[in-house]
Amino acid sequence: MAHSLHPYQHTLASRVSCHGIGLHSGKAVHLTISPLATDSGLVFYRRDIPGSPPLPAHMKHVIDTRLATTLGVGPLRVATVEHLLAALHGHGIDNARIDVDGPEVPIMDGSARPFLLLLAEAGRRRQHRPRRILRITRPISYHDGEARLTILPHEGLKLSGEILFDDCLIGRQRYSFDYSPENFASELAAARTFGYVEQVEELWDKGLAQGSSLDNVVAIHWDRHRVLNEDGLRYSDEFVRHKVLDLLGDLTLLGFRLHGHVHSCRAGHTQHLGLLRAIAMSPGCWQLVEQPQHEWPPPRRGVRDLWLEPADTLQSPAIPREELTLR
Ligand SMILES: [Zn+2]
Repeated sequence: MAHSLHPYQHTLASRVSCHGIGLHSGKAVHLTISPLATDSGLVFYRRDIPGSPPLPAHMKHVIDTRLATTLGVGPLRVATVEHLLAALHGHGIDNARIDVDGPEVPIMDGSARPFLLLLAEAGRRRQHRPRRILRITRPISYHDGEARLTILPHEGLKLSGEILFDDCLIGRQRYSFDYSPENFASELAAARTFGYVEQVEELWDKGLAQGSSLDNVVAIHWDRHRVLNEDGLRYSDEFVRHKVLDLLGDLTLLGFRLHGHVHSCRAGHTQHLGLLRAIAMSPGCWQLVEQPQHEWPPPRRGVRDLWLEPADTLQSPAIPREELTLR
C-alpha cells in the first residue's frame, strides 16, 4: 500500500548538534542541524572555513561518488553526506542548514539512526508552503556495467534493492521499502555500512577509512561466513537494507520528493547519480506537482491557518520542468 506524503514542507523545530569522527580522516567533526526557511532545501556550510558559501545538497554539486557521496563547490567539499541526507529525507525534513567543521559528515555508527535520534530530539515543524513532488509518469532506466536502475510510476515512494555478492554470508539479497517516516525509523535507519575486512585494511594502507572501526562498519570476516562485530547483524538482511538506505540518501539530491518505484540491482553511489541525471534528462517521463493527487485530505483551516495560501494554489498541478535544473 502506498503511503501518503504530508503535503507541506517541514523543517526542524529547534537546533541540534552532535560530535563524531570522519570515516576517512579519522578526525573529530562537530555537526549542527538548524531550521531553515521554506524552499531552501538541505544546505551544508563548512563552519571551519571563514565566509564559507552555501553548499546545497543537489546533484549538480556532486563531485565524487567513490566510497561515499561527496558534494563540492570550488575548493569547498563535504564528504559522506548520504546517511545524514537519508535521515533528513526519511524523517520528513525538507529544509535544514547543516554546519560541519571539517570535510566530512561524522560517520557515527555507520547507519542513519544516530541522525534520526538527533532529528527526533529537535522536533519537526510544518511550514506554510506545499512540497514539490517529482511524479514519475513513464519508466526511466539507467545501466552501468552490471548495475541496473529502473524507476516506474508509483503513488508514493518505493525502493526495491537487490545485491549479489560472491560469498556465503551476503550472497543474493532482495529488499523492498515503502517509504513513510515510520517505516524509515523501524526498517531502514539502523542498517550499517559494511565491507570485507581485507578491503578495510587495504583502505587503511592507502590512508583512507582512518576512522573506520567495528563501531561504525560491519566487517565481514576473512572466512566469509560471519561478521567480526561482536553483536552480529541488526537485521538478517542488513547489507541490502543499507544499500537501500544509501539510495534514499542519494535520491535527496534530486531536490524534490520523488513519487515512483525505484528498482536497484547491484548499484552504488555512482549509479544512483546516473539515475538522477537520467531523470533530469527525461522531462517527458515525469511531472512536478505540489500535492499528491489523492489520499491526503486538505488541511482543516483553523484560525492559525488563515495565513496560508488559498486552497486553490495548493492544488496547482504543474510547475515548469526547467526548475529541476535550476535548484
Ligand atoms: Zn552507506
